[in-house]
Amino acid sequence: MLQPDRIVPTTCPYCGVGCTLELHLKNDTAYGGFIYKVTSPFDSPVNHGNLCVKGRFGYDFIYSPKRVTTPLIRKTPQKPGARTQAFDRDEWREATWDEALDLVADRLVDIYRRDGSDAMAVYCCAKATNEDNYLLQKMYRALFRTNNVDHCTRLCHAASVVALLKSLGTTAMSNTAAEVIHNDVFIVTGSNTTENHPIIALHMKEAIQKHGAKLIVIDPRRIELCDLATLYLPLQPGTNVVVFSAMAHVIVKEGLVNRAFVEARTTGYDEFVASLEKFTPEYAESISGVDRNLIIEAARLYATAKNGAIYWGMGISQLSTGTASALGLIHLALLTGHIGRLGTGLNPLRGQNNVQGASDMGAMPFHYPGYMPVDVEENALKWEAAWHIEPGGLSRKRGLTTTEILANAKPGGVRALYIMGENPMMTEPNLNVTRHHMAQLEFIVAQDIFINESCAFADVFLPATPFAEKDGTFTNTDRRVQRVRQAIAPRGQSRPDYEIICDLALRIEKRLGRPNTARWNYEEPEEIFREMANVVTMFKGVTYDRIQKLGLQYPVPDEAHPGTPFLFAESFPAGRGRFFSLEHVPAAEPTDDEYPFILTTGRLLEHWHGGTMTRHSQLDALFPQAFVDVHEIDAAQLALKTGDMVRVSSRRGSIVLRVNVSTKTSPGVVFIPMHFVEAAANLLTIDTLDPQARIPEFKACAVNIQVAREGEFAPVEEMTVRGRK
Ligand code: SF4
Repeated sequence: MLQPDRIVPTTCPYCGVGCTLELHLKNDTAYGGFIYKVTSPFDSPVNHGNLCVKGRFGYDFIYSPKRVTTPLIRKTPQKPGARTQAFDRDEWREATWDEALDLVADRLVDIYRRDGSDAMAVYCCAKATNEDNYLLQKMYRALFRTNNVDHCTRLCHAASVVALLKSLGTTAMSNTAAEVIHNDVFIVTGSNTTENHPIIALHMKEAIQKHGAKLIVIDPRRIELCDLATLYLPLQPGTNVVVFSAMAHVIVKEGLVNRAFVEARTTGYDEFVASLEKFTPEYAESISGVDRNLIIEAARLYATAKNGAIYWGMGISQLSTGTASALGLIHLALLTGHIGRLGTGLNPLRGQNNVQGASDMGAMPFHYPGYMPVDVEENALKWEAAWHIEPGGLSRKRGLTTTEILANAKPGGVRALYIMGENPMMTEPNLNVTRHHMAQLEFIVAQDIFINESCAFADVFLPATPFAEKDGTFTNTDRRVQRVRQAIAPRGQSRPDYEIICDLALRIEKRLGRPNTARWNYEEPEEIFREMANVVTMFKGVTYDRIQKLGLQYPVPDEAHPGTPFLFAESFPAGRGRFFSLEHVPAAEPTDDEYPFILTTGRLLEHWHGGTMTRHSQLDALFPQAFVDVHEIDAAQLALKTGDMVRVSSRRGSIVLRVNVSTKTSPGVVFIPMHFVEAAANLLTIDTLDPQARIPEFKACAVNIQVAREGEFAPVEEMTVRGRK
């Protein structure tokens, strides 16, 4: 068997579980080290030696010949309104780092001087490290004085974050994922956990099969975990609020409320109870399609548990009622007191490897690092002191979210966009409109490893390094700050994101005539982390030394603190947990005769997000093609069988893909994964936003299905995110 020259421990770059990886390397290659195998140590508290297919086999994208490893500049200057995508390398010319960074600094400073802070915007990156994200938001806040800083948390769990902040004053999972084995009853809702968080699903299976826990699944799709569930509530997409509120109604009416907990630790109970009157199980059945008896049984089972917990995914948050849906779950925990103890709690399963960390680092328009609201004077003063900025220098105005940044791409609005590692041309809703907005921008910088669908719009491409070529930290879904370690040298001229940002910030600072306003020279990423932790107290006790082997779960207020596996033992950050009165608001786009199916979108086990990494890895051969899940009753009516080609259309776009006849979805509901550029699901989705969290409604829109016949379809380029509409 091949013996490694080195084994480098690091953290998986895909999902928020944050599994520990061991990269096995041979030294003697042109790459300065070649990773030939990935394993995981059995003593990892996160994954106990287990990895899913992405973690074990999805690393080879770093050796893809398509990686860009030299700075690139578009040959043809792009005009606002007429900007095009350039995938062909002939449309770019290679540049030195000095030339590329000087051009970026010149153009950004010119636009800032001419149009001011509101013209500047940046997408940080949930795949990049804490240190990368901290620096990029700092560059935009400290130098361009704007809070137009966001990242893809807006598109996944923004609603969960807003709901948790409103009710409890915090944003993250309250428990350690592996704690599920201490639950005797747990709810999984809006999460296809086996595909999206496979290692957490293993813990869940262990809880059920070894420890006798009872599972309640509430989901429009009959996900794999339903096979192990005691109860399955198949609700229509977008009807979460009414089902969760009906469960609360039952808990109150049947005297199952934990009165001692409610009195000691909550506020707003009486008004909340009054607001529940209308949410009878019968009413919920009429709206959601879930049998009233199932709602009653689920409420009783959860409320009478010794240790109950709730796990949710983007099926809760990616709705125009996302904040209300998450509040509906929080209410269940507050009513029953299933929070603040081992094996109880509220757990939004975060999507990307470092979406928790990027949010913690202030890559959001309403908050500085540590969730300090930007419009609170005291917070602004703290960061002005930390970054050596004159009092009053930082903007107190809340910035634009990702979707709003693009919607404001017009004269008088956002003119320059910096995109680090994100791919809005795959991940935003209603992509034909996104494409129009991208075309309106005056200047776009892309910092990435491949020319993806969004980078193809850029004027300048800055080649960054993936996880195996840099140092830093990721924070996983259960608040665990873990090390990321450089195993191989950066390929070609590519550089770690934090290095690129520092180099660029120094050039911008010089052009703005504000030298030494903030620090941009660091010997190593740990110095960046320490700078952040000096202000954000929940990270004060995290040092690289302390997380050499195992991560630490924040809050870690000092260097003697062991970390915090579960939250809220004594109190909530907001003091008392708050109840809110909720209303049922239907999905933004109801079905009708023209568009009779509800489309819901999501992820697959084998792929990740917009596909920038997995579609350049060997995983693409495992799952190379998009599909639409159609329920067998609907398939029979449309005379469809698995493998048939269909055209799926909404009022916003149209894609062609194969049918998979299944019983996973309910009749009338179809499912399409989001990863495939050839049939991009987000060409169909609707850009209606949750009014509080500004997250789009990815999980429900109306579509129709037409059977493909020879020559019936428009040319493919009209239907992909790579073409022109
Ligand atoms: Fe990576 Fe997530 Fe799979 Fe673990 S479960 S190996 S973190 S993708």
